[in-house]
Amino acid sequence: SNQRQPRMEEQSRKAFEEAKQYMPGGVNSPVRAFKSVGLTPIYADHGIGSRIYDIDGNSFIDYVASWGPLIMGHAHPEVIAAIQETAVKGTSFGAPTLIETEMAKLVCERVPSIDIVRMVNSGTEATMSAIRLARGITGRSKILKFEGSYHGHADSLLIKAGSGVATLGLPDSPGVPEGVAVNTITVPYNDLESVGVAFEKFGEEIAAVIVEPVAGNMGVVPPVPGFLEGLRQITEDYGSLLIFDEVMTGFRVGLNSAQGRFGVTPDLTCLGKVIGGGLPVGAYGGRRDLMEQIAPSGPIYQAGTLSGNPLAMSAGLTTLRLLNQEVYDRLEMLGAKLQAGFEKNARELGIPMTINRVGSMVCPFFTEEPVTNYDIAKSSNLDMFRAYFGHLLQEGVSVAPSQFEGMFISGVHSKQDIEDTIEANYNALRKL
Ligand code: PMP
Repeated sequence: SNQRQPRMEEQSRKAFEEAKQYMPGGVNSPVRAFKSVGLTPIYADHGIGSRIYDIDGNSFIDYVASWGPLIMGHAHPEVIAAIQETAVKGTSFGAPTLIETEMAKLVCERVPSIDIVRMVNSGTEATMSAIRLARGITGRSKILKFEGSYHGHADSLLIKAGSGVATLGLPDSPGVPEGVAVNTITVPYNDLESVGVAFEKFGEEIAAVIVEPVAGNMGVVPPVPGFLEGLRQITEDYGSLLIFDEVMTGFRVGLNSAQGRFGVTPDLTCLGKVIGGGLPVGAYGGRRDLMEQIAPSGPIYQAGTLSGNPLAMSAGLTTLRLLNQEVYDRLEMLGAKLQAGFEKNARELGIPMTINRVGSMVCPFFTEEPVTNYDIAKSSNLDMFRAYFGHLLQEGVSVAPSQFEGMFISGVHSKQDIEDTIEANYNALRKL
């Protein structure tokens, strides 16, 4: 491969300084600011396939993929063409369009739990609305979530655990009222015993359990065998609903999403990211009798001026149509190759690491302990991660600037991309 130039940053630094005068932290979503790694953010100019190009002329093999959506890479020609064709007919009508039904039909066909589906504009809206629905249906107020899981920034979901097992939550952010937080119970991921304790204590008050079927916001943490099945059982026993937040895993870990992959069917499912093909989309769906409680067929209100937007639907639908078993087999193969390469590098260099992976979601942790929950994820050596991240950027590889995010491989990453990334990983680890 080519001799690597050091990353150029002048334009990006200038752009960031200017942006900070007009936007909080210079960005429209916090993680983009690279604050936790103390580096200049990548200012995107354009993307092609597996690569992102910044305004300084650097290019990176990209595993951020817009934080998950770009499962067929940047600027996929078919996706761009679909957006263009749709755009010339008008960008929004606030009236139903045919493409919304096509999209809904495909989602219903592919996702086992979804009989009918409502489109929204983000993952946050999807989880927020699913929780309102669960509360409206059950007449209960409490929800149970897992430590280290992220379900968007709605008040009731921006909650961290109180001290001890199965205690009521505390606000994770100023502005979230305590009165809201007390309705969110938080327990460790993969810990059915704690779920059991929480249900013994509060079971009759719990409207729903919301879970990432593969955790992707504490780094990547797969469900241990029996965990999702256990959640299915206990929610049924207590008349609570089971909500899978598949905003990240939906159409990412398999053609039928995580619920297909693990064979556990929730009552409600939240989607986002991949189903928008890089445009702002979320969705929630599930059993017909539940979903028909949503307005206008039922009394539980939820709406959106731009929901089901034609541009977003065309990008999403085109992306979903590009996905088939062959693509997922390829993602699995590339993921396994990347994981094996990273593991070999760590072994050779004597760096204690654990590489978690489900399909094309990959996460190197700087700890030798198996990472099965947030507490263990947090024991990863974060100083090492920060240094590693910086070295990796210099090696021309872009990953999320946080230990608590995975890498996303796309269907257009080449074997060569993966090999180059393994080499970059080696060089970055060697400098630690
Ligand atoms: N749920 C999960 C599992 C997520 O990963 C995210 C975003 N990272 C969200 C919900 C929120 O989605 P959005 O950022 O589109 O609001």
